[in-house]
Amino acid sequence: MAANEFRMLIGGDLVAGEVGSYDIVNPSTEHVVGQAPEASSAQVQAAAAAAADAFGAWSRTKPEYRAELLSRAADLLRERVPELVPLVQAETGATQRVTETMQVPTCVDRLRRYARGAMEPATIPLPPGETMTTALAPGGLMSAIAVRQPVGVVACITPYNFPIVNMAGKIGPALAMGNTVVVKPAPQDPLAVTVFGQIMHEAGFPPGVVNVVTGSGAEAGQALVASADVDMVSFTGSTPVGRAIGEVAGRDMKRLLLELGGKGAGIVFEDADLKTAISTIVSAWAFHSGQICTAPTRVLAQRGVYDQVVGGLQLAAGHLKVGDPLEADTIVGPLVSAVQRDRVEALIQTGISQGGELVAGGQRPDIETGFYVAPTLLAGCKPDNAAVQQEFFGPVVVVVAFDDEDEAVATANSTEFGLYDYVFTADTSRAMRVAKQLRTGNVGINTAQRNHEAPFGGFKMSGVGRDGGSFGLHAYSELQSIIWPG
Ligand code: NDP
Repeated sequence: MAANEFRMLIGGDLVAGEVGSYDIVNPSTEHVVGQAPEASSAQVQAAAAAAADAFGAWSRTKPEYRAELLSRAADLLRERVPELVPLVQAETGATQRVTETMQVPTCVDRLRRYARGAMEPATIPLPPGETMTTALAPGGLMSAIAVRQPVGVVACITPYNFPIVNMAGKIGPALAMGNTVVVKPAPQDPLAVTVFGQIMHEAGFPPGVVNVVTGSGAEAGQALVASADVDMVSFTGSTPVGRAIGEVAGRDMKRLLLELGGKGAGIVFEDADLKTAISTIVSAWAFHSGQICTAPTRVLAQRGVYDQVVGGLQLAAGHLKVGDPLEADTIVGPLVSAVQRDRVEALIQTGISQGGELVAGGQRPDIETGFYVAPTLLAGCKPDNAAVQQEFFGPVVVVVAFDDEDEAVATANSTEFGLYDYVFTADTSRAMRVAKQLRTGNVGINTAQRNHEAPFGGFKMSGVGRDGGSFGLHAYSELQSIIWPG
């Protein structure tokens, strides 16, 4: 096997793709990083079957054993950080800062978190010594206890923005709960995920417990979702693909966890600390070139501070250095592919044609190779502008003016998404009042920092189900009641 060829993991074997392999391209240099295997649908079925075969024994293992293997995998992963950082960097195009802080180390943290998670009680917490008691039945008093059971084989399908972190966030809780998994990473950047698969294998997970298949969503992804051996689909990605997966999985009552698109509203009230509001929005704007589902890229600014907000964002745009992600002072790197760049550019033009005022960016930066879009600011947008309603997944911020609280809430709630909104205000009562009216799964108040123990997920078309901390464990389990007389 050549150094830049990668292998899938199926039933404990490292294998090439039966369809062949395809080039993974560095989004900055446009050079080939390596060859990813392309799975046939028979290989996807074999991976799902291996996971189904392994499920019985794995689901009966002691939590201590599962915790030990997850910890060992975290240790091995940490040892290989120096190898994984350049690989993830090359295939995603993420800047050094993003790669070194988020793309790789977060993955180790997630495995450690769910190694601890394996030891969390599988029974529903009740006062010590008590059981859950049912009402009197004809035969007398019946007692009951609720336990969490693993779901079975979980298909984990992930997007391109944080390939190994997304994988760890799914397989960590799924394995901790006693499920087996088949992972299908995004086709743009699957290489580090295949290395991660090998690491799980080296950590000692029994054959079939962890499987990794690579290839396109149209082939490998669809075959996996449709497989009769799959009991649950945990998908993170766009809303249209999530809907298509939900339709197929729903036919067989497969359990679903869908983390989908977002169009975060950043509501800036007149009494807000504008420095905090603007710097928070700017950091989210630039972070991973806007390829993040939770970013407050839809800024709603109260009329009295509207000009200051637009002016502050315009000034900041000029200071966001765009360029080679390997240079330490680069803030905005390329988008993952030419397809994604073209999509973002087309939506910018639509936004302008629908009345958005181009205040910054909008053009391709003068860089010889790579899929770059300059940080772009569209102000004066009406709430129904396509650039306000649709997700860019690129470095584009749109600004809409509002007069009062009711209008802010109505505009924030006016998209099909409901993943993460933000409220910037000095008035705590208002912050809580507004937060409770937002039809969104998460609300940040004067911050974009996450709390990874909090439940995370979407309202409306942003998804179904919750993960994060212990909620992640619950997502990969079924509740079972065990009832006995007495
Ligand atoms: P996509 O939805 O385009 O793709 C995600 C994955 O699904 C890819 O592996 C894709 O393969 C695969 N896929 C496509 N069609 C099918 C199918 N019918 N059956 C099974 N698998 C399929 O998302 P992106 O990778 O472009 O990621 C960006 C999106 O992800 C954004 O909308 C973003 O908001 C969302 N996201 C949401 C997060 C959240 O937590 N809510 C976090 C991160 C991203 P292929 O590319 O070959 O089609």
